[in-house]
Amino acid sequence: MIVVTGATGQLGRQVVHHLLAQGVPATQIIAVDRDSADATELSTLGVEVRFADYDLPETLAPAFAGADKVLLVSSPAGADAMRVKQHQAVIDAALEVGVQILAYTSVTHAPTNTMGLAPVHRATEQAIAASGLPAVILRNGWYAENHTAALRGAVTHGALTGSAGNGRMAAVSRADLAEAAAVVLTREDQAGKTYDLTGDTTWTLSDLAAEAAAQSGTTLTYTDVPAEQYRQALQQAGLPEQIVELIVDADVAIAGGTLDHVTSDLSTLLGRPTTPMSAIVTQALRA
Ligand code: NDP
Repeated sequence: MIVVTGATGQLGRQVVHHLLAQGVPATQIIAVDRDSADATELSTLGVEVRFADYDLPETLAPAFAGADKVLLVSSPAGADAMRVKQHQAVIDAALEVGVQILAYTSVTHAPTNTMGLAPVHRATEQAIAASGLPAVILRNGWYAENHTAALRGAVTHGALTGSAGNGRMAAVSRADLAEAAAVVLTREDQAGKTYDLTGDTTWTLSDLAAEAAAQSGTTLTYTDVPAEQYRQALQQAGLPEQIVELIVDADVAIAGGTLDHVTSDLSTLLGRPTTPMSAIVTQALRA
């Protein structure tokens, strides 16, 4: 049995779909969810949905009962200490149940990544190592969707703004990462492996704007602004403070080159090139 946590999220849901597409019977998949209303679509696939909440440790081991493999999709939000505690609770439950392997969605280049979200992943990787649990680490690349989600609006207004400078990023589509996670979960002998999952190429926000302009037949250029100005603009747009901090911090780290590295791990797992930025832009403009 393969357990997927965060299964109602944007990544976890796609992992479940890819497991099914790769031939894993629905009866061998358990989708862990903390709000069953979100899980209706997963239930209709024949996948068993079990309740668990990272904040309620006592719910985790029962949700993992019978599992050979558990994919821990990292917690999305909150203070670092809280998220590490949540992840520790999942590790403890996986140990209690005696799973054969825990897979964890970490962050690309975890040991040196300068993004503010990286310390949680470093701490979790250390906690997994300290637990002695057989584990595989999926150091997920930066989602291209973090930058394409607002692309239609940018095209409409003719302005793409950020603070990433000329920083190059080997960003990836969530779909590629989900497919790779499913590949790893369906393979044996994964314990002890660490995959650094980047796109095959790097690009800048100027490249993204140029691609969106070409595809939409509009004029769209990237305007780089100081981080504080970008923060204020996002706040004025009404984004939640935590999201504002995540976006601005990420851009500053990108400007500093933290995502300017390419590995072949993702394309090797997929058995094909990673989805190019142009295709991700096409999807975003159609959405
Ligand atoms: P989503 O926010 O779409 O999904 C997160 C999932 O975690 C949801 O299913 C959510 O359930 C679940 N969840 C949240 N809190 C708890 C909890 N207390 N107990 C159990 N489950 C919980 O994120 P994505 O799928 O897009 O991304 C997966 C992870 O990747 C994120 O959670 C984050 O850690 C990390 N990330 C990666 C980035 C990247 O660029 N690589 C950028 C930002 C984050 P519910 O629907 O009930 O809330």
